[in-house]
Amino acid sequence: MNIGILSTNKNLYSTKRLLEAGEERGHDMRVINHRRCYMNITAHNPGVHYKGQSIEGLNAIIPRIGASVSFYGTAVVRQFEMMGVYSVNESVAITRSRDKLRALQLLSRKGIGMPITGFANSPDDTNDLLEFVGGAPVVVKLLEGTQGVGVVLAETQKAAESVIEAFRGLKAEFMVQEFIKEAGGSDIRCFVIGDKVVASMKRTGKEGEFRSNLHRGGTAEVIKITPEERSTAVRSARVMGLNVAGVDLLRSNHGPVVMEVNSSPGLEGIEKATGKDVAGMIIAFIEKNARPGNTKTRGR
Ligand code: ADP
Ligand code: GLU
Repeated sequence: MNIGILSTNKNLYSTKRLLEAGEERGHDMRVINHRRCYMNITAHNPGVHYKGQSIEGLNAIIPRIGASVSFYGTAVVRQFEMMGVYSVNESVAITRSRDKLRALQLLSRKGIGMPITGFANSPDDTNDLLEFVGGAPVVVKLLEGTQGVGVVLAETQKAAESVIEAFRGLKAEFMVQEFIKEAGGSDIRCFVIGDKVVASMKRTGKEGEFRSNLHRGGTAEVIKITPEERSTAVRSARVMGLNVAGVDLLRSNHGPVVMEVNSSPGLEGIEKATGKDVAGMIIAFIEKNARPGNTKTRGR
């Protein structure tokens, strides 16, 4: 097959591993920088151009769209979908999961456990909002943040009010969540492909840090997850419509709660922690599922 990896950086671990895994399995692999794609939106003949040439003959794409290029990146993925190219994660699903609030709204409709979460627009409702999630300590999160940036633990009511006031002053959208203290600064990343959790790891923040992101100096170890955690992760990916997803869970007193579902989960942490060939499993999934026009996107 001809498989394109949409990535802005061919030197990233995940990009290199996907390239290598695809080649090992006998495919023609190429990295396409979605930022450098330009599109032709003519009736009946959608096209993608890249560095002066039209991209032809692709059977599948693997989007690795960073948060800072969500808008343009998903437009490029959508264009490939319009051309009938199979995308392992569809543009609508990527957009859906990228907006943390929208994602939680959709997950809650399906009864997936999550931290009690509040969202409000007017400063007049700050006190109600805090009360509603159980009062301080609370976690205040920017909706568009990634890698733990813009995730703040406010230990007192006063601190929470100040953080909220600051975010409002910056016109930033945020949500307020109950702090899951019992998670002890650890979370669980479940790597989902299709309807299976293929690998999982526990990440723990460095001393004194409640955020467990590896980018913030957290460490990873293999963990055995419970059947309930497994089904929560798989169902979450399905609700988002993602075939490949990194589902982040916290172990709370009321069972597993989902924090977010990532549409371009990194491979380095999970492959190194578990020793599994996750990149190879993504390629194997594509081999089984990529057929022209096999996209579910109906724009709903
Ligand atoms: P990002 O997408 O920026 O990684 P997350 O929502 O995943 O943001 O939060 C980053 C980290 O902060 C999580 O991995 C987790 O360790 C911690 N965290 C986030 N929300 C909560 C919460 N409600 N209770 C306890 N810890 C949390
Ligand atoms: N209409 C779809 C749904 O409700 C998508 C909504 C969305 O992606 O936000 O599942």
